[in-house]
Amino acid sequence: MKKLNQSWSESTAPTYKSYTLNNFREIPQIKKLPPRQQFEMEVVGNVLPFKTNNYVIEQLINWKNIPDDPIFRLTFPQKEMLRPHHYKEMESALKQDLGTREIQKVANKIRMQLNPHPAGQMEHNVPHLKDGTKLYGMQHKYKETVLFFPSQGQTCHAYCSFCFRWPQFVGMDEFRFAMKESEYLVQYLREHPEVTDVLFTGGDPMIMNARLFSQYVDSLLDANLPNLNTIRIGSKALSYWPYKFLTDGDSDEMLELFSRVTGRGIHLSFMAHFNHPVELSTEAVKIAIRRIRSTGAQIRTQSPVLRHINDNSDTWAQMWKNQVALGLVPYYMFVVRDTGAQHYFGVPLVEAQEIFRDAYQKVSGLCRTVRGPSMSSTPGKIQILGVTDIGAKKAIVMRFLQGRNPDWVQRPFLAKYDEGAIWIDDLEPFAGKQFFYEGELKEMLQSETEKGGQDVSIAGGGPP
Ligand code: SF4
Repeated sequence: MKKLNQSWSESTAPTYKSYTLNNFREIPQIKKLPPRQQFEMEVVGNVLPFKTNNYVIEQLINWKNIPDDPIFRLTFPQKEMLRPHHYKEMESALKQDLGTREIQKVANKIRMQLNPHPAGQMEHNVPHLKDGTKLYGMQHKYKETVLFFPSQGQTCHAYCSFCFRWPQFVGMDEFRFAMKESEYLVQYLREHPEVTDVLFTGGDPMIMNARLFSQYVDSLLDANLPNLNTIRIGSKALSYWPYKFLTDGDSDEMLELFSRVTGRGIHLSFMAHFNHPVELSTEAVKIAIRRIRSTGAQIRTQSPVLRHINDNSDTWAQMWKNQVALGLVPYYMFVVRDTGAQHYFGVPLVEAQEIFRDAYQKVSGLCRTVRGPSMSSTPGKIQILGVTDIGAKKAIVMRFLQGRNPDWVQRPFLAKYDEGAIWIDDLEPFAGKQFFYEGELKEMLQSETEKGGQDVSIAGGGPP
């Protein structure tokens, strides 16, 4: 592991301080904003998740560029993130001073209208053990990869206002799907030799301290699973709190754990979320990246294309170039999911593809490991390849990068051209009544729903 640069002595290390709805008015830069703007943040922050921290505020946001600054929009609630009627509903609840319980009720009512679980993630991807036990806290959608949600990793160092995992952060306990016991994970992997990859996700698993996280990882290592090739960690800690790998009390221990994984011949892939080049610009993140890479871990990067944050090709080209220069591997450009503030952040599919194509044309081959734009939808990850002419008509060309049925992958299919479509559900097949996979998908979902089984209760809530 790379030795920590002397300039990052413990005495200069910042201490993490988070800001939420309860204390955001203490932030000196927020105090300077007009009371109306502060109230707007309060209204929206009562519905969508809101948390930021001192690193984001002091090193990532350019306060001279408010409200347009991308990281400000990424982490601070903006009025337009709620639709006007939802905004009015919460505004009126706050103005009438209805009390915490009533305000919570209003908030939950609005949240339920924001498609809190897109892509059927609660109903359809919950795996079973052979004895029929349903494992809430895990998801198994694609053959090779299992997602695991450690119960103590269901929060983040700051929240992204576009996040599709937002119900987990706003106290809707019945929607938390975390599993305490990693034994279930091991048992499941033993029963499913086709699974080669485990993705630790959340929230952000890097919110956990190294000792806690190592309990999960070490139980996998100790189990000596012949099928386990790769452990992935989905995290935004490099963007929101790089000190996790620099000066936090457990930073060395965490990196030693990474080295332990790679030392066992298991590939460790750190799936880093970067939404804008500014997140790659500080000394802290650059050194944190070097330290993670020195453990033998590979860092791959991903982000959705987001209106107001990164909806132009120059930003993406710059981001990919900076990533490759730092030794990272660009992996995915996603399309914003059909949940939460999609109307605010969403970029139509045709435009997203143009941004991708233009950015791709501006970078060298080493950046072209990236795939996208891709929708993580109920049937699978669907990539928009472009627009083409079929006779006198225009069509949108797509393909599966991942599918519930692996046979769907890499088969191009067409939709009627629709400039405004923002998600697969908005598109119509170019010919025929349905897309080629729809009949089979319906049957698959139906059969999953019919499977019964005992539910394993999870930390912080039960099955939905
Ligand atoms: S870091 Fe990831 S899980 Fe956390 S709020 Fe952002 S997108 Fe959501």
